[in-house]
Amino acid sequence: MAGEPQADCLFCKIVAGDVPATVVRETPTTVAFRDINPQAPSHVLVIPRVHYPDATSLATAEPQIAADILREAGEVAAQEKTEGTGYRVVFNTGTGAGQTVFHAHAHVLGGRGLNWPPG
Ligand code: IMP
Repeated sequence: MAGEPQADCLFCKIVAGDVPATVVRETPTTVAFRDINPQAPSHVLVIPRVHYPDATSLATAEPQIAADILREAGEVAAQEKTEGTGYRVVFNTGTGAGQTVFHAHAHVLGGRGLNWPPG
């Protein structure tokens, strides 16, 4: 059923506590944890507890939870003290855009200057 945990999904396992992660924030609908391969001094992933394969499918099915992800991205940036220098929220969507984990997630990057356009 839509939104249900998927047995083969790494991020569902992190939500369940079956795979360890360095969790920095939790809400009833979201979990935020440090990326295992950080691309900036602060690199946190914010994910919904429910399983949807990407941000667009999440926003279509559960718009309030998609909004929760964006709000939490800002809370993470504040907690990580990256607001002063700016931070970036990224939703890689599709393999061509670099998506490797097919459970919706926002990358929250900060702590260094961030170039535009990204690679
Ligand atoms: P994507 O490439 O946009 O799908 O982002 C997936 C992210 O998950 C990558 O930045 C990976 O480094 C990160 N990642 C993969 N496995 C783990 C893990 O076990 N813990 C934390 N981050 C992970």
